[in-house]
Amino acid sequence: MNFNKYDVVVIGAGFSGAVMAERFASQQNKRVLVLEQRPHIAGNCYDKIDTNGVMIHQYGPHLFHTRHDDVWDYLSQFTEWHPYEHKVLAHIDGKLSPVPFNLNSLYAFYPEQEAIALESLLIKRYGENAKIPILELKETDEPALQALAEFIYNKLFVNYTCKQWGCKPEDIAPAVTARVPVVLNRDDRYFHDKYQAIPKAGYSKLIENMLSHPNIQVKLATDAKNYLQLDLASKQVLFEGDVFAGQLVFTGMLDQLLDYAKGELPYRSLQFQFEQHDKEYFQPATTVNYPNDEEFTRITEFKHILSQKLNGTTIVKEFPQDYDRHDPKCNIPYYPIFNEQNQQAYEAYADVIGDFDNVIAIGRLAQYKYFNMDDAVKNALNCFSKPEGG
Ligand code: UDP
Repeated sequence: MNFNKYDVVVIGAGFSGAVMAERFASQQNKRVLVLEQRPHIAGNCYDKIDTNGVMIHQYGPHLFHTRHDDVWDYLSQFTEWHPYEHKVLAHIDGKLSPVPFNLNSLYAFYPEQEAIALESLLIKRYGENAKIPILELKETDEPALQALAEFIYNKLFVNYTCKQWGCKPEDIAPAVTARVPVVLNRDDRYFHDKYQAIPKAGYSKLIENMLSHPNIQVKLATDAKNYLQLDLASKQVLFEGDVFAGQLVFTGMLDQLLDYAKGELPYRSLQFQFEQHDKEYFQPATTVNYPNDEEFTRITEFKHILSQKLNGTTIVKEFPQDYDRHDPKCNIPYYPIFNEQNQQAYEAYADVIGDFDNVIAIGRLAQYKYFNMDDAVKNALNCFSKPEGG
């Protein structure tokens, strides 16, 4: 491959890579090569119609939401939208109740008089519509609220988090469980952002449209590691041994890129079990969480998302796993594991990459961050508009 005929090489065709490729091509008329190791684009957002006719998300449910006008306007150039507000229920003590835990959940679990008393205590202390991370609610000095916090922690958080992360909520960055706070209103939606919608023709199509610029060439099933080398002494990027003078955008794992020179960064993986059922609906909401009584964390039924009218249905169960790069059953790094120690280990790699003038390391993996899809897009748009990014 003649890499030097390109101005920019992007490694990875997920959201971060696609935004960077699209921006360099359309805003600076650069010639861009995108290398993707999988046989398809769109990273973990990849979706497709299965044999049941259902639009499934191959790497687990992806529900788009954002409060950022610029992200919404940018993506709207490449897709039409299907309005969709995500709803999640939790299967607890044989009942289905809304997640995040809100006032409706409170009344589902407590006798009415007790729920009324707790509601008024909560509102007095935190205010209407407040969103309280569970670890913060647990700190309360009010005994009745302490008991409520214990209840929510025990029924909704502790076992789910142990399954998902292999540790308790206290042993992972507080921001992780704060994603699903206790909410003091009766709004049963999972997200509260201004924009909530799914690309009408799917995420794969959205990313295909982003990458369809004539300046962009995409090579699938191509492992960049077979071509790319970073010369740590000269701080030069080499492709097939030749110095690459253009811009490298890398969206993969930095530990892998740097041959694990400073050890392996921890990640969490997942196994997905897809099932097709010969019935109209499997469950009453898109996602049902099983904090306590199954090995999987949640079941998602995809046909709810695009309101597809079909006789059959397809669901997926998520089984969290330790990541192991040598084991094909769990060698996809879905989530960095967020704690201070891992962040420091990551920074050591980021420092090495920071010394390369023509390398941008960007995205959930390369920045070791818990990005939602809109965060990834916003982050890439910001990176591009910084002087050194664009
Ligand atoms: N969580 C939980 N119980 C739930 C839902 C979430 O304990 O019913 C915790 C868990 O630690 C999870 C985190 O909150 O990893 C964030 O949940 P979210 O749904 O945002 O996770 P994602 O969809 O990104 O996997």
